[in-house]
Amino acid sequence: MAQIYAYIEHHDGVLDDTAMELVVAGKKIAAGPVTAIVTGSGIDAVASEAAKIYPEVIKIDTPALAYPNAEVIRKALVNILPSGAIVLLPHGPFGMDLGPGLSIKMDSSFASDIVDIEGTDGNLVKLIRQEFGGVVSVHVTSDISSGAVLCVRPGAMAPDESKSASGKITDKSGDAGDLSANRKFLEIVEPEAGDVDITKADVLVSIGRGIEDQENIGIAQELADAMGAVVSCSRPIVDAKWLEPARQVGTSGNTVKPKVYMACGISGSFQHLGGIKGGFIIAINKNPNAPIFQVANVGIVADILEFMPALTEKLQG
Ligand SMILES: Cc1cc2nc3c(=O)[nH]c(=O)nc-3n(C[C@H](O)[C@H](O)[C@H](O)COP(=O)(O)OP(=O)(O)OC[C@H]3O[C@@H](n4cnc5c(N)ncnc54)[C@H](O)[C@@H]3O)c2cc1C
Repeated sequence: MAQIYAYIEHHDGVLDDTAMELVVAGKKIAAGPVTAIVTGSGIDAVASEAAKIYPEVIKIDTPALAYPNAEVIRKALVNILPSGAIVLLPHGPFGMDLGPGLSIKMDSSFASDIVDIEGTDGNLVKLIRQEFGGVVSVHVTSDISSGAVLCVRPGAMAPDESKSASGKITDKSGDAGDLSANRKFLEIVEPEAGDVDITKADVLVSIGRGIEDQENIGIAQELADAMGAVVSCSRPIVDAKWLEPARQVGTSGNTVKPKVYMACGISGSFQHLGGIKGGFIIAINKNPNAPIFQVANVGIVADILEFMPALTEKLQG
């Protein structure tokens, strides 16, 4: 079995939660150790954190990698990874930028949006991945005889939070090779500050396209008021300018960790689910096959425009 590597995303010196998930994904492929790869500039602290999760950490620490430019990181990985390597990436916007091209450069197989790994049979790793925006789960095998790049959906694996490893850190910055790029980093655009901070809320009433009309947002606000909750939303609601960007949950919005997340008329795309880290998920959707029901702790098949006012009335007693 080829060596398994997990690419570790980090932001402002903090490891992404997927660091604790990819180690679990790696162990589902094979029992052996999984090696973390951390790239960036001035990343000693990040590498040390990764070493609490992984028995081995490879560090590529150079100013050329100060910003997460997939083109440059791809070059570095191709130079340091052995042929036949199995590389695990988080299936987020960055992983999808990095992964497909990396598999082409490494001449290995590629699979995206993996929600579970059912083990390995010889050279075939058995994967469950989602297609058509999460509407169907597909059981596939990926031939790993020449290596593989596997993008695992954030939140799909129960994280290993034990942080019990004391991994060895190896500096491979000198082996990264030519890191010149055609794609140039310009600036980081921080999201606009809003009047609410959904990342601090214990209870979120989150609305999606199922709310149907801007005028119906009042229905969600009334329910949120009755529950002592804050209103958040999926991206189409922000795109329609019905709510401000500060209320968006997801990979291109905010990451939230509420105690209760009530998803109302939200289908459950991976971009949306990628922004929900923990919490008890209650999903209300009129489509019984909506993907959100696969991750919800409680699923209610109902029309939110009837369900939400009825619940508000009950709560107001
Ligand atoms: C690069 C990129 C980044 C993205 N980032 C994000 C992000 O950060 N956050 C995000 O949310 N999305 C993001 N998206 C968009 C994402 O792919 C989905 O399109 C989006 O999450 C869908 O939002 P939704 O669930 O509200 O709408 P839909 O997928 O249209 O789902 C609406 C749901 O409402 C249900 N429904 C309709 N009417 C009712 C009713 N009356 N009662 C009950 N249920 C009803 C339907 O059955 C359906 O399941 C991103 C996309 C890209 C390409």
